[in-house]
Amino acid sequence: PERNRVRLDDMLRDAYEQALPRAEGKQLRVLLDLPRELEAVAIDKDLFRIALNNLLTNAIKYNRPGGSVTLAARNEDNEIVISVRDTGIGIAPEAQDRIFEKFYRVSEAGAATQRGGHGLGLYLAAQIVELHHGRLVVESEPDVGSTFSVHLKIVSAPAGAAVL
Ligand code: ATP
Ligand code: MG
Repeated sequence: PERNRVRLDDMLRDAYEQALPRAEGKQLRVLLDLPRELEAVAIDKDLFRIALNNLLTNAIKYNRPGGSVTLAARNEDNEIVISVRDTGIGIAPEAQDRIFEKFYRVSEAGAATQRGGHGLGLYLAAQIVELHHGRLVVESEPDVGSTFSVHLKIVSAPAGAAVL
């Protein structure tokens, strides 16, 4: 991937603003939780935007009216952790191991609403995070919600270098 040091916080703000109207249409609240300063990371902006958008789209799609989606970032040791948390339908433990597989979808037999999709969003997101030598981690509880966290290594700027 083409690495550029980007203002990750600007990118997260953009993603948040784009998610707002889509979430409001489903009666969801969207929250943005950023630290005052976010360490710099080297990412491919276009690819990373796709990964982030896939996670946010899922958080909206697998949610319920009155629920919420929280996009957050934090500095942690030598990493930046970006998380997308929802209060949606959650994912059964046995499915959590498989959701990153190509074309895998959790079956919704008996569900009142069938949600369409190809089972590619998380596969792509995981591939993109891997290209950045990062980790994509899921924590989820059925009927409570899910959190997807992207862990990225912080790149330290050479002394005197301009930090974006
Ligand atoms: P698309 O290719 O349009 O993204 P999709 O949303 O079905 O289709 P993925 O994004 O790869 O595919 O997700 C795979 C499956 O994991 C989904 O079908 C869904 O069952 C489950 N899943 C993903 N994100 C969530 C979430 N936030 N909450 C609950 N289940 C989820
Ligand atoms: Mg999806």
